[in-house]
Amino acid sequence: GLQEVGRLKGIVHELLDMTRAETVQFLTGEPVEVKSLVQNIIQSVSAIHADFHIQTDLESLSQVRIRIVPQHLEQIILILLDNAMKYSDERKDINVIGQVVHNKVAIQVIDYGIGIPKEDLPHVFDRFYRVDKSRTRERGGVGLGLSIAYRLVHAYDGEISISNSSHQGVCVTLLFPIVTNE
Ligand code: ATP
Repeated sequence: GLQEVGRLKGIVHELLDMTRAETVQFLTGEPVEVKSLVQNIIQSVSAIHADFHIQTDLESLSQVRIRIVPQHLEQIILILLDNAMKYSDERKDINVIGQVVHNKVAIQVIDYGIGIPKEDLPHVFDRFYRVDKSRTRERGGVGLGLSIAYRLVHAYDGEISISNSSHQGVCVTLLFPIVTNE
């Protein structure tokens, strides 16, 4: 839940300090099955936030594995779900879609919330950057979530990008290298 997010954020603060020098600190983990991991996280978030409807399409990720410490993937997904919920108003739908694109796992978290002004998009991964303080003040947060997610994703040789979707709302895409059986 969100308390868990707070606890994990503390841990990742240490990681942030380690990477302050802007050199990417690479991490590695055992191969883990993405689908079940993501499903577990969504299940626990759904249990706490029953007002949100989180719909998943993860079938394409059956048997697909990436190398990551499970808690780190959990952390990344929690940050994205936390944001999706924090910046949604009336429409409380979130879609989580998993696909295989070339040799990578693509995980997308899509919401139908307030979106991000175009001029702010290039900065949302910066530490302590918050869009329009007046609109975000009442929603809490300090502007660290996405910067933590960015550092973590890159530590595992992954990529993260964010865009406004064609409908109202935001789409965050994660890419991770797939573990191949050799
Ligand atoms: P926290 O440190 O608790 O995560 P935060 O949400 O302000 O606080 P980030 O997760 O780094 O920090 O997000 C940076 C900014 O990007 C936010 O202040 C918010 O304005 C914007 N943002 C992030 N995710 C979304 C989203 N799904 N929809 C709309 N705006 C978003």
